[in-house]
Formats: sequence, C-alpha cells, structure tokens
Amino acid sequence: MNISHIEHIGIAVKDLEQSIRFYEEVLGMSCYAIEEVADQKVKTAFFQVGQTKVELLESTDPDGPIGKFLEKKGEGVHHMAFAVKGIEGALAKLDEKGIRLIDKEPRKGAEGLDIAFLHPKSTHGVLMELCEKKEE
Ligand code: ZN
Repeated sequence: MNISHIEHIGIAVKDLEQSIRFYEEVLGMSCYAIEEVADQKVKTAFFQVGQTKVELLESTDPDGPIGKFLEKKGEGVHHMAFAVKGIEGALAKLDEKGIRLIDKEPRKGAEGLDIAFLHPKSTHGVLMELCEKKEE
C-alpha cells in the first residue's frame, strides 16, 4: 500500500458551533470549510494543521454513524484517515489479506475525496479510512 500521510483525524462532537469556537478561540486554528455529507448523516468542519486536517463531525441524524457513536461513547476521536495512492488497488489487497472492509468500493466523502473505511475489528481497534484525491 502506498500511504503518503495522515489526511485527517475525525472527531465526533455534539455541537459543531461550540466545538469550532474551541478550536478557533482556544487552539487558535481557523475553520476553512463547513460541509454537510448527507450520505454519512454528518455536518463537518475542517481545520488544516500542516499536511493534516482535523475534521469535526456533528451528527444530523441520531441513527447515523456519528449519532450512534456519540450515544455509545460520547465525544472523542472517531477515526483516522490515511491518504493513499490507488485506493481501489489498496482495497483489493486488504480484501485479499482478509481485512474486514466496511466499504469494498470507494465512495465520495467530504471535499470530493474517494474514501473507504476499514473495520476496527481488523485494525487493532481503530476505525481507519483510506482516502484519495483524484483529479477530475
Ligand atoms: Zn474522515
């Protein structure tokens, strides 16, 4: 697999506005985008930190993945995303190795990236996301 860097860290929050205020006023970062990803039932806010982003995730539906996560575990780190080259090939290799894939095929995530999740049961407890920025 060709992983170049940590693309982003996804953090589940109860209240996006309040959380943005913490990142901006306390940590001194600035939010450069807010985007709703209907598919994943979330509203996201992005902060750039070097090559990596922090992605805050607020649920738009209690039955969505972030809604369920918040109910079970409360606020906190939800997933970690690696930037890869050739996401389809990477998924095929992982599948061959018996790694449990939440997405066998990449789908569209925030910022137009192709994304796919790996199941934490196969990754020593971390919900991992692979993502690739494709030129259109
Ligand atoms: Zn993500």
